[in-house]
Amino acid sequence: MTKPTEEILLTDGKELDARRIACHVREIIKLVGEDPNREGLRKTPERFEKAFKYLTSGYHQNVDHVLNGATFSVAYDEMVVVKDIEFFSLCEHHLLPFFGKAHVAYLPNKRVLGLSKIARLVNMFARRLQIQERMTSQIAEAIQEKISPEGVGVIIEARHLCMQMRGVEKQNSVMKTSCLLGTFKEDARTRSEFLSLLVGT
Ligand SMILES: [Zn+2]
Repeated sequence: MTKPTEEILLTDGKELDARRIACHVREIIKLVGEDPNREGLRKTPERFEKAFKYLTSGYHQNVDHVLNGATFSVAYDEMVVVKDIEFFSLCEHHLLPFFGKAHVAYLPNKRVLGLSKIARLVNMFARRLQIQERMTSQIAEAIQEKISPEGVGVIIEARHLCMQMRGVEKQNSVMKTSCLLGTFKEDARTRSEFLSLLVGT
């Protein structure tokens, strides 16, 4: 006989606390026909909770926190490009990973960002439930807002496991998205300089 939910919560304590992700993962394991008490699965709900909290830790960060004041005024006015920033995110439609590389560039207007900060910014937005298009524009807009450059360009190339694991036709496809702001959008020369810097090594 099944006990009423309240009673289970009271008697079994922490492990069945419905506020914990682990509690629901246990239910999911049952729903796919597995035994959550089987040795290999016994600690899986807690492991999943820990991993999932890490993969969504971007919700506990914001742009100011990540940049931590690391914007500097300089006389440099050439394009700054950071290529091949690896990232891992979760698609919000299937909660499955999408991952790849982000390329970020901007044309400074008296201010630049600390170099490592761009990768951190990418990670912050990646570690949320995302769609690739939104993530691309969030990165560009955050840079635009914080250092008001002449322009920003962000290109993201990624593979989506929700496409690759489920379909048969799109196994190797890479999705590309871009967000161009300011001179990157308006000026063809800036745009082609950006694209040519991405091609070279
Ligand atoms: Zn998906």
